[in-house]
Amino acid sequence: MKIKTGLAVSVFSLSFTFSIILFLKMVFPGLKPGTGSAPIIFLIVQTTLLWGVFGPKSPLFGRVFWRGSKGWPVLALTFDDGPTEPYTSAVVEILKQYDVRATFFLLGRKLELYPEVIKKIAEGGHEIGNHGYSHQVLPLRFPAIIRSEIQRTEELIIALTGRKPDLFRAPHGWKGPFLVRTAKRCGYRVISWTRGVRDTDRPGSHKIIERSLKSMKIGAILLFHDGRGLEIKPDCSQLLKALPVIIDKARRLGFKFMTVSELMAASEVNQ
Ligand SMILES: [Zn+2]
Repeated sequence: MKIKTGLAVSVFSLSFTFSIILFLKMVFPGLKPGTGSAPIIFLIVQTTLLWGVFGPKSPLFGRVFWRGSKGWPVLALTFDDGPTEPYTSAVVEILKQYDVRATFFLLGRKLELYPEVIKKIAEGGHEIGNHGYSHQVLPLRFPAIIRSEIQRTEELIIALTGRKPDLFRAPHGWKGPFLVRTAKRCGYRVISWTRGVRDTDRPGSHKIIERSLKSMKIGAILLFHDGRGLEIKPDCSQLLKALPVIIDKARRLGFKFMTVSELMAASEVNQ
């Protein structure tokens, strides 16, 4: 899917490049861009757009929160693509054992499959965020579709918990010209991450631990997955093995844990 979106961005940047050249010719009729200028403009436009769409920290299409203040040693653990059983319940249980509160970005379609799990998440004192309904790629979608993805999941979360979430994380973290603005109009702050540990690649629990350790910077938001998109039976067992070790190592390094909203409040972020 990343290749498809990348191709669409390339086509868009190609037409954008020609628009720039046409615009320059209209404004400066005497200007004769050299034959080498079009590919250079194309490369610059394409690289900038690809960074804007795929870069988790990129503010090109609107600001997202991807790291807390660097003042003191805190981390926010986040879990995407759930609820998926038995993994979400197991993650909640591990967090309970270690007295850690985290943030779960839930998918609407998964909530319809496992509606009871959200209560366990809420009872554990964890924060619940919105990850859209069907995990569809949103950068090239118009506001109506983005709004529908957000609101369908929002309705489910409200029906099950009585509370409206106010954090949204886009599927894959990919953004487009309408995403951040539409999410804000729906009452959400858009959340990204400092570093993903790519646990959905199933690299082995030791690798997940190693990557997490490298990501432990002050104020970091770590991205894990208690599901894998809309897959009904993903294997997240490596995360379950790694998570207790990650929490333990983080504590030994002096880190405390916060939910994303707490991290934002502590960082005095006003979005
Ligand atoms: Zn996701």
